[in-house]
This record gives sequence, structure tokens and C-alpha cells, in this order.
Amino acid sequence: MNFRTPLEACRHARISQSSEIADFLSVLAADSHEADCVTIGYSVRGAPIRALLCRRDGNSPRPRVMLVGSHHGGSEPAGGEALIEIARALLHGDLRELLDHLDVVVIPNSNPDGRDDDSSRNANSVNLNRDYVLLSQPESRALNAAVQRYRPDVVLDAHESAALKRKSLGRAGYLTEFQAQFDVANNPALPTGMRRYGEEVLLEELIARVDSGGLHAQRYIREILSIDQALTYGGITIKRFRNKAAALGALSFLLETRLDPKDGQYPSFRNIAVRTGKQVQCVRVFLNVMAARADEILGLRAESAPVTAGELMVLSAEYVARAEGATHCVPLRRIDTGEIVQFDFRDHRQLALHAPVTAPHAYLVPRHKIVMRDLLLRHGLHFDYLQKATTLRVVEQMVEQVFADGALALRTSERARTMQMPAGTLRIPLAQPCGRLAPLLFEPASSSTVFSYPAYRRLLCPGEPLPVYREV
Ligand SMILES: [Zn+2]
Repeated sequence: MNFRTPLEACRHARISQSSEIADFLSVLAADSHEADCVTIGYSVRGAPIRALLCRRDGNSPRPRVMLVGSHHGGSEPAGGEALIEIARALLHGDLRELLDHLDVVVIPNSNPDGRDDDSSRNANSVNLNRDYVLLSQPESRALNAAVQRYRPDVVLDAHESAALKRKSLGRAGYLTEFQAQFDVANNPALPTGMRRYGEEVLLEELIARVDSGGLHAQRYIREILSIDQALTYGGITIKRFRNKAAALGALSFLLETRLDPKDGQYPSFRNIAVRTGKQVQCVRVFLNVMAARADEILGLRAESAPVTAGELMVLSAEYVARAEGATHCVPLRRIDTGEIVQFDFRDHRQLALHAPVTAPHAYLVPRHKIVMRDLLLRHGLHFDYLQKATTLRVVEQMVEQVFADGALALRTSERARTMQMPAGTLRIPLAQPCGRLAPLLFEPASSSTVFSYPAYRRLLCPGEPLPVYREV
């Protein structure tokens, strides 16, 4: 049996096509009793999105790790190329021993049309890694449903990042200078114990081990577009897959490896072999760290229990200065001379949490039920209907002002009252596996609120109540 990857078969002359990746996964699974190849969904143009489920028979519980590649299609293909090599090594190569410690779900090609179009977006021109609130695209729905179906304990989303930002930092004459960056889910509504374990134990260990393996690694810093900007870590909303997977209960990480520019003497411009090699190195470390920490990770499963009524949830936060005048030094590379220059950036890598919201028993939706029901179905949130008009104690939020755009798209004032809800009102209890999503999506103060998107903002009218009530 020939297990050459599509890249090896073409001697790394081009990136793999989506159909080649899908076929390779089928071939790997057909020759192993430890893997199943399943189709988790289809792209806009109907290409299958395949997952390889790798697990060894045995009684002891093992953490399940989900590896996702190439969300950004042909612009960032190395993650997908690396993950099929990793899958081969798990089933037929030198990573076989890891399946004694981990179940692994491999989804190498989450944006098939983007890969085949040499685009970061899908065939509807949507950035899929910003679509996990709306779930407007078949690819993001497939990935979201796969997380809900396979319930991974750990998720890795593998990306690449261009060192040359042609339209911003490049104009000032500089490239970014790192080889690998990892970030961790950082939405403030995630369970504290999981967030801290992910950040303080797993993330630190990942970075240290990749770095000591010879690939310069650091905590992810949000894109540097200007030498005058402040530094922050990654975005906090659940429109990103990393944070969405975490809201669904996983310890969740982002990987970005460096994508070199074509100008200058850099090893990896369009050199898919080098780029894939960096990804493979990082993912191997990732799996080894998770295997070594398997018992602790299993112990955290209880942490992802549903939210209970009365619990305080922080739904938004912003990056602020770590201290008055704090700076952090980051090396950049001059494009013209190749020289490394150290820059002191304003250090805003501190999250200031906004006031918490008290989790209700349920949310009630008496109006705009068809639109909201569709959203609930996409997210896999369970709901039922009030069978008859019912008098309930609720918190009503009055819409005072609707702004044009942005996360904080509206201002509301709230009041507790006793109200008769009509028959047919949608009722979404928080006591359900994905209950944590409901406040994130429905609370107007949440940084992930659906009401920051035009399709839902147009349901609002100043002077009228929000169509979603808290049942308290
Ligand atoms: Zn990306």
C-alpha cells in the first residue's frame, strides 16, 4: 500500500487539491482498523469536508483531541498538509503509541473551496474564522456540528501568518519576526478553571517545548499593522473557531506558523515543504503535551458543566495597558537590509473584564421567533414552546439606542417585571450541554452578541424591548 501524501507524490511542486486530501484520508482509513473516515459536511460548491476518527480499542478513558487545518484555504494550506502527515504517523508511523493515550479527530481541510481557489475565504467570500456566531456558511456549520458531535476535550486550529503585511507594516518597511505563535481560548465567559489551566499550564508548555525544539515560538500577538500600535493577544469573541470550540467545552488553541515573503532570502516563500515541516513540528509537540497531561485534561471535564441560574458570567472585556506606560519589546525585521530592530510597543495585553450578567434560568423569545429559531437550530441549542400564555418573572431590556456597527451595537436599560408571555413563546433553558452559548449570543452586553450583526440588529427598535427576555 502506498501512503505517499499528495504533496510527496507531486514532489512538493504545488499544494494538495481538496479532492486529493479527501481521497488520502479514505485510503488511510481503509487500511487501518483504528480509523474511520467520515464526511462531516459539504462546502458551498459541494466538496466533502472529511474527518478521520482515530482511536484504539481499550477500556481506559482517553481525552479526545480535534485537529483542524486550513480554515483559511489556499492562503494558509500548510496546516492541512501537515495534518494528513500527522494522521499517517498516528495510524502507520512513529506516532502510533500516542493512540494509547489520546483519541484524535483530524479535520485537515475545513475550507475545500478556498484551498482550490487559492483564497483565504470560502466560495461565498466569507472569512470562515469570523462566522461562528452567525454560522451562515455550510463549512462553519459543519465544523461547529463536528465539535458538538465528537465533544473533543482539546482543539487545535492550525493557521499560517504572513510575515509581510503588504498594505500596513510593510509600507513602514518592516516584517514581523517569529516562527510559531500559539494562543488559547480567552473569552471571559469560559469556565475559569479551564481557561487558567489552558493558559498557565498547557500554553506555556507548548511554547516552551516548540521553542526548545529549535523553532522560535511565542504567545500569539494580534497582527502588528503599525509600529505605533498597542500589543494585544487574540480576539475574545466566539465568532472565532478557537473561542467557539471552547464555549462548547474544549480546551482550545490557535497555532500560526510563519509564511515568508518572496523578497529577500527567506526559506519558505511558496516552499510548501518547509512550511508543512514547521506545522508538523508544532503539532507533534502539541499531541505529546496533551498525551502527557491526559489525566489532568480528563479531570477538567467536570468543569465544562452547564451554567447554573444565578451564576455570574462576564460576557465582555477589553484589552488595556498592563500598567501605566508599560511597554513590551518585539523584534521586527527591516525589509531593505534584513536587520533585526527591537521596538518598544505599548503593552495592552491585559484583559479588563466588564460587569458580569447574572445567568437566568432560561431565555424567552416571544417575537421574531422564526429568525431566532433558525439561529438556535444552527447552534444546536435546545428549546421548547410555552404551551399556553404564562405569567412569569422576567428581566426586560429596553433598547435605548442602536448604533451603526460594532460589537457594542446598542444601549439598553433593564428592569425586572412580571409579565404574561404569549403561547408559542420560545423558551431556551440554560441547563443544557451548550447552555453557555445562550447568554453569549443573546445578551446585548456580550462581545459576541448576535445583535451586533445587521441581520439581528434590524429586529431592534429604540424605545421597544429586546425580543429576548431573561426568565429569572
Ligand atoms: Zn488564518
